[in-house]
Amino acid sequence: MKVPFNKIYYTGEELAYIKDALERKELSGDGYYTQQVSKLMERCFRIKRVLMTTSASHALEMAVMLTGIKEGDEVIMPSFTFPSTANAVLRQGGRPVFAEIDKNTLNIDPADIIKKNNHKTRAIIPVHYGGVGCDMDSILEIARKYKLTVIEDAAQGVNARYKDRYLGTWGDMGCYSFHSSKNYVSGEGGALAINCNNESLLERAEAIMEKGTDRKRFIKGLVDRYSWVEIGSSFLPSDLLMALLYPQLKKMEYIKSRRKTIHDYYFKHLQGYLKTGMIEGLTIIPESCESNYHLFYLLFNSEKMRNKVLRELKKNDISAAFHYTPLHSSKMGRQFGYQSGDLPITEKVSQTLLRLPLYTEMSLEDAGYVVKVLDRLFKQGC
Ligand SMILES: *Cc1c(COP(=O)(O)O)cnc(C)c1O
Repeated sequence: MKVPFNKIYYTGEELAYIKDALERKELSGDGYYTQQVSKLMERCFRIKRVLMTTSASHALEMAVMLTGIKEGDEVIMPSFTFPSTANAVLRQGGRPVFAEIDKNTLNIDPADIIKKNNHKTRAIIPVHYGGVGCDMDSILEIARKYKLTVIEDAAQGVNARYKDRYLGTWGDMGCYSFHSSKNYVSGEGGALAINCNNESLLERAEAIMEKGTDRKRFIKGLVDRYSWVEIGSSFLPSDLLMALLYPQLKKMEYIKSRRKTIHDYYFKHLQGYLKTGMIEGLTIIPESCESNYHLFYLLFNSEKMRNKVLRELKKNDISAAFHYTPLHSSKMGRQFGYQSGDLPITEKVSQTLLRLPLYTEMSLEDAGYVVKVLDRLFKQGC
């Protein structure tokens, strides 16, 4: 048996929607399917306004531009994230300030946000790791107290909740991804949620994504021609990609339930190894959260042990994976004066984390095989 790490899931309706999009001849941005998808997200996740983008990276860039981050401003974020979170800040001349994570959820630790906050801090970018929500109550309390903007990196957090609200809708803005590696896919794709009641911010967002023009106001009939009003770029996805995404979002509950089945199976069969000491941790979903089951991970006692398990799984045709190399100790991070040892929990997690295969079409038989191979390894003491 061969178990890949990830496999793109198609609902079966994609070709029909793509064909329809081709026939509509509106392939550029903001066409029929772009509107369908953004309306669906606004309705299902109760978001004030959703703007579809070409990626979460671009949604993050837009959010940082809209916040007005400039040279000398600091933005607090975890080091345990994808480089896009930090790139968005650097591209506007701001400085990413890396905070430590909580060892149970691997999400940013609010206590360390307070420690890293100073008079230069302008914003916080919490990252919802694996679709499990950050402690948004504490983060928003800090943001209110120090007047900071909150931009959620919910790239992995589509259709997941913290308390009664969806991820990406707690902060001023939220960023989502539909990259092939995520739960709902258009190959490359993303969205920006605008949650604040600020018409001028929305207008600016629409101008930024339309190459810095007020074309959107022109389409709405508010101006009689459109012209250059902002520093912008082209962040609109082709309608063809949104036609591909549409059936995936229509089936998002089914996709989530399939992933939950595998996730719960892993948890049930592997949590016992915490007691035997074979593992130090595994995916934990706090009571305040409903996950979208984006991933399932194990934490080992040492990097050596993690790498050995990874190799043994591979020998048995199972693709597992580690995850982020911390941003602070990477080549770029060291250029801002960070070094190894600065964020010990982040570094330990990065060295000892192993993600197990998890995808929508995975069967219990596949998951059973992964557990069986792990059982054999753990019983031998690895
Ligand atoms: C995947 C991911 C991104 C980037 O998403 P793209 O849509 O590929 O740009 C950013 N942040 C996090 C936390 C991610 O997991």
